[in-house]
Amino acid sequence: MATPKTGELSVNETISLLLELQEINQNLDNLVEDIDKLKEEAAAEEKKYQSIKSQYDKHAPYVDKTQKEYDQLKIELEDIRKKIIELEESKKKIKTIKEFKTINKDIDLLNKKSAIRENDLLTKAEELEFKKGKIGKIQEKIKETEEIIAKKKEDLDTLIRERKDNIAKFTREKEKLVSKLPGGVVATFSRIYLNKFRSAVVAIESQVCQGCYMKTPLQVEISVKKSETIQFCPSCSRILYRADDIPARKSA
Ligand SMILES: [Zn+2]
Repeated sequence: MATPKTGELSVNETISLLLELQEINQNLDNLVEDIDKLKEEAAAEEKKYQSIKSQYDKHAPYVDKTQKEYDQLKIELEDIRKKIIELEESKKKIKTIKEFKTINKDIDLLNKKSAIRENDLLTKAEELEFKKGKIGKIQEKIKETEEIIAKKKEDLDTLIRERKDNIAKFTREKEKLVSKLPGGVVATFSRIYLNKFRSAVVAIESQVCQGCYMKTPLQVEISVKKSETIQFCPSCSRILYRADDIPARKSA
């Protein structure tokens, strides 16, 4: 890796600024990450909601259709029953046996038809109840999901509101630090920061890199101590520093 020039700053001053930058970057990333996580959760609930809604849209017409069929059967049954009553009434006025027999035959037929319709109506009622139960459960699920989504959106709004000021503050601090550092240094730092799980600048302790915990050759520690140029861990390429050389880090 080419060693970036630190310009007017000493190596240790550069490292010190980079450590600040790293901390701010980590803070910013954490703030944004929580928001992203909630956004993802809200999106997942929204997706679930759409899927339940489409289930509802698919099933609702069948409930309507079955309800109409049920109503129709009920009307037919009432008509048949009415006809039977009418025929029974007309029996009182007839004179001949032949007429009497004909009416009785008609009544018999209507009674059979009525029995069949009654049976149909019962079956249809069961079907309707089943379908209504199913759609009822879907409606419950829709309501549940709507509540979850509303809660998630509320949490997200609160989180964004709470973090807005901090994000702005950290962003300003970050810009300030970046403006103090040479571009090449920032670019190298950013690349390592992204590639190495948000830790680009790490301490070296007794020749061991605190980023990858590999023992480095003695010469590396000597070079870090000399601090003439920025030193990188030969194993993980992170920027190395000695805590003793960076005053602010001594207590950290
Ligand atoms: Zn390392």
